[in-house]
Amino acid sequence: MVSRRLDFDLVVLGGGAVGALTAMQAAERGLRCLVLRLSDRLEPEAETLRNQAWLQSGAMFTRLTGESAPSLLSLKLRAQGQRLVSELNLPHPTDRGLARFPEGQDDEIEEFIEAARELGLGASVRRLDSLDARERTGVFHRDGTVCVEVPDAPFDEAGMLVTARARASAAGAHFAEIAEPVRIEPGEDIQSWRLIIDGEKYTAPRLVLAAGIGNLDLLDALGVDHQLIVKSTPLLVIPKSEGMKAPILIDRSQKLAVACHQRQFRPPHGCLVAGVYVGTEIPSSRLRERVIPESDWSQIYQVLPARLQDFEGNGHRFTCGHEVMRTGHGRVRKEDLIVERVEPYRNVVLTLPGRATLAYRAAELALDLFDFGQHSEEMRPKPAFDLGLAWAGSVHMHHDQKYDHLDDRAKE
Ligand SMILES: Cc1cc2nc3c(=O)[nH]c(=O)nc-3n(C[C@H](O)[C@H](O)[C@H](O)COP(=O)(O)OP(=O)(O)OC[C@H]3O[C@@H](n4cnc5c(N)ncnc54)[C@H](O)[C@@H]3O)c2cc1C
Repeated sequence: MVSRRLDFDLVVLGGGAVGALTAMQAAERGLRCLVLRLSDRLEPEAETLRNQAWLQSGAMFTRLTGESAPSLLSLKLRAQGQRLVSELNLPHPTDRGLARFPEGQDDEIEEFIEAARELGLGASVRRLDSLDARERTGVFHRDGTVCVEVPDAPFDEAGMLVTARARASAAGAHFAEIAEPVRIEPGEDIQSWRLIIDGEKYTAPRLVLAAGIGNLDLLDALGVDHQLIVKSTPLLVIPKSEGMKAPILIDRSQKLAVACHQRQFRPPHGCLVAGVYVGTEIPSSRLRERVIPESDWSQIYQVLPARLQDFEGNGHRFTCGHEVMRTGHGRVRKEDLIVERVEPYRNVVLTLPGRATLAYRAAELALDLFDFGQHSEEMRPKPAFDLGLAWAGSVHMHHDQKYDHLDDRAKE
């Protein structure tokens, strides 16, 4: 079968945080860019839309085993999170989240505050008195704990995608929504590759793999030893804010993280998105099913306050997020980014940001790995393009009411 050439400087597979931001940065540099993105008409495939939308300040990662504080990851999260909101002109979250410790760990708490200050978080990190902590945690209040205020809060990730898409489109990028995953196969020589879209074969000069969990299939098809695995991280959507005023609550001793989203997502009372780190590895054949085993979802209920444990009466639902991480030799922390050339293939770059907070940086690093040669910043003719539908509609986070049907099949 003859391959058609996609006449773009860059093709991006995936339109989550990295894909959209790569297109924005590429198009604004004058490059012709095409994004192919699986539709999330029935449910969002993008982890960017299935997460807690917590813009990380780095405070929770200052002390990591084997590193001096503040850790490299915390420095990266701090700098790149700020950069992401500034570069996109998103509102800087001003609310203060809470890190919670068991009482009696004064040394631990002091070291936490000290390291956060070294990270540059200054007076925004401080210990709260117990009344204040009770007032801000609502139904999540626990006796025998101490809360420290941190500058962590949710940000509008759906809004971030819309902004990145609008800027990329204004600079000439194409976004196509496709019904079936794009596939890839090796070409005739050892470095070449071809895309398969709707059964047709295509070549392109450069490719960014920004497909999240979809990257595994793509790399497998190229025969690459990627050592990536996917772990399920279910989130419980509680359709009321239950008196919690803190935008984020992190209790590491319970492995619990709760994000509080305001009423624009779920009027009139907002919602909470709660997760505990479960870490069940999902075989690649079952990724698209997004099923949550009972052993995983029941772990969230075990740490919830008694009042929230009756899920039948509370209208709760689960969504199944998936996190990609690397095992073996090239292992990095699951929160850290991976941006690398896919050897031996010509002009293919893999991007996994670890956290949405690092997505702007991941996109920038990906573009730096290509040689675009000389290209004129002047308007060049738009390439003819007839695949899929334009990706142009509204974008929603998984905890919006729009996705309330998601729980029907999530629990196994
Ligand atoms: C439960 C959970 C909670 C998290 N919480 C946070 C948090 O609070 N803060 C934070 O910063 N980070 C968080 N993360 C991490 C963060 O969500 C991800 O690191 C980030 O969103 C990944 O972005 P991405 O663009 O790489 O992938 P995704 O957002 O997953 O996007 C992948 C895109 O590729 C498309 N796609 C897939 N396969 C194909 C294919 N074959 N062809 C074409 N398109 C394809 C998908 O439709 C999608 O558009 C969380 C992750 C999970 C799972």
